[in-house]
Amino acid sequence: MQALLVINAGSSSLKFAMFEAPLAENAPSIFRGQIDGIGAATKFVAKDIDGKVLVDTVITSPEGADFEAQQQLALDTLLNWIEAQNVQLVAVGHRVLHGGERFTAPTLITPEIMSFLTSLIPLGPLHQPHNLRPIRALAKKYPNLPQVACFDTAFHRTQPELAQIYAVPRKITAEGVRRYGFHGQSYDYVSRQLTRVLGDKAGNGAVVIAHLGNGASMAALRDTKCVATSMGFTAAEGLMMGTRTGSIDPGVLLYMMETHGYGAKELSNFIYKESGLLGVSGISQDMRTLEASDAPEAKQAVDLFCYRVARQLGDLMIAAGGLDALVFTGGIGENSDLVRSRVVEYISWMGAKLNPELNKQRGKAQTIHAADSKVAVAVIPTNEEWMIASHTVKLLGVA
Ligand code: AMP
Repeated sequence: MQALLVINAGSSSLKFAMFEAPLAENAPSIFRGQIDGIGAATKFVAKDIDGKVLVDTVITSPEGADFEAQQQLALDTLLNWIEAQNVQLVAVGHRVLHGGERFTAPTLITPEIMSFLTSLIPLGPLHQPHNLRPIRALAKKYPNLPQVACFDTAFHRTQPELAQIYAVPRKITAEGVRRYGFHGQSYDYVSRQLTRVLGDKAGNGAVVIAHLGNGASMAALRDTKCVATSMGFTAAEGLMMGTRTGSIDPGVLLYMMETHGYGAKELSNFIYKESGLLGVSGISQDMRTLEASDAPEAKQAVDLFCYRVARQLGDLMIAAGGLDALVFTGGIGENSDLVRSRVVEYISWMGAKLNPELNKQRGKAQTIHAADSKVAVAVIPTNEEWMIASHTVKLLGVA
């Protein structure tokens, strides 16, 4: 069988999905899995199309292996496993954080493009190097295998200039300190479903998509193109997230430096790892756990999350020039009827109203608003891996 491999490599994990080539519309992955805990106790899990576990094993690195060597071993384990499945890889699509200002679409990777993407590491030091390493490793092992980079930032390149700049000195903007936006694969996928789910008028109108997962962001669209988004220079801006602060008064960071003696490392942990749902609840970063908890701190964390989504929605309506439709996606957006109903409640003054029965349903792309709602509301499950596979196929004409 011929197959496309999709890789989403993070700082300590590597997620993969494999799709049969030629790629059918919305085809499920034939295999998917994850390598977790790279740098510590590395675990490799792979499942088949029905979710049956095919592998669940620990990868033991040689004594003294550094992170890079451990990531290489994890990748080799995955590639050897793929070879043993009797599939022939025809191309690989990678999720890559940053395409800078240059890339508005996915691209075939060449040595020149690799060195450009490497030069963007200062813009995304927590993700970009990890995204690029498997590309190098694969190129070494299979020099003729085409590889494609799909950027988190590319979807947002249609934002007008005002939506992309900060109020900082021009020379800092010129260095690349700009609002790039992220979660591009998810928005790309959902934006392509808008007219099918919402009809031509609302789908092409003023739409706000809320990608609510462990990482969370929102984007305003007109004619299915991005005009503004909540994330900026990094994936820390905007909404409160599982463990991230989202937008915060920079004065708080100065306070933490001056009063708590925080340096860059501590600030990074504060912004990315200790805050958000986890920080406010003191219990968990997981929305499901918080919704099930009776603790007042858990309730407050959920309340704050919904409030921040609604406030951001107000902001994005200005950029979109109104609100014809609100679309939920991501783990929370797709599964939490509580979060959806709380957010829509905040715009009930605009005449937005849910159909409670439809709101309770899961897993389907559909509208969930009441017949007399003045704003369309929909759930569209995202499919980032399929989107990457689809771009890879289209760019290379391999299937
Ligand atoms: P993601 O990062 O898109 O995979 O989303 C992960 C988030 O979705 C976690 O906070 C989960 O708790 C949340 N989630 C998944 N299923 C549910 C559910 N049934 N109800 C509430 N939250 C959920």
